[in-house]
Amino acid sequence: MRHLAQTDDLTGLNTRRWFFELAYQELRHTRRMGTPLGLWMLDLDHFKAVNDRFGHAAGDEVLKIVADLCRQELRVSDIIGRLGGEEFVIVLPDSNLEATCVTAERLRTRLAQFKFPAEFDGLSLTMTAGVTQLSPGEATLEPALLRADRALYTGKSRGRNIVVMAEHRSIEDILLADLNAQDEKFPL
Ligand code: GH3
Ligand code: MG
Ligand code: MG
Repeated sequence: MRHLAQTDDLTGLNTRRWFFELAYQELRHTRRMGTPLGLWMLDLDHFKAVNDRFGHAAGDEVLKIVADLCRQELRVSDIIGRLGGEEFVIVLPDSNLEATCVTAERLRTRLAQFKFPAEFDGLSLTMTAGVTQLSPGEATLEPALLRADRALYTGKSRGRNIVVMAEHRSIEDILLADLNAQDEKFPL
């Protein structure tokens, strides 16, 4: 029973609920240790067209294949959840923004180059991703999820099949940039 609530039936990935359970454990650990935490979201591009072309059952098969690719490309310690539909979220313990981008880009390339089985008749499928990391002082995942989501949608509007890094401007960064700008106006 417990397994059912933790694992998504179709893909075998963590359910949304169980993902948050695990991700919050990791968040607490990260805050204790002062280590970085990467978070990214991916959404498959034009997935409706896959269902329209091959049918919903075949669409399900494609989702399973994509979940397998995720598991292959990510570390066992990474936490993958099916947020909903064809949208996944991944937490990377001990990974900063750059390392998280590299991972997302690796998976993006892998999928873009992937040859689906013959019954999919040369299907090519891509993903769009939004990448962020936990900012110092953040005690919940909400702001990071929001940044990743915004970056993902920027990627969609830029034409999809792309990894977009979220804007990372903490209040400290903004104040510092402000100070620097003033320095330029009033050089010593
Ligand atoms: P884009 O994200 O690139 O904007 O286009 P899209 O076509 O992927 O957009 P949208 O998010 O609107 O549609 C997602 C589609 O995914 C809608 C739904 O039919 C399909 N879908 C969601 N969950 C499942 C599922 O479990 N199985 C199958 N076969 N299809 C699903
Ligand atoms: Mg989509
Ligand atoms: Mg979607």
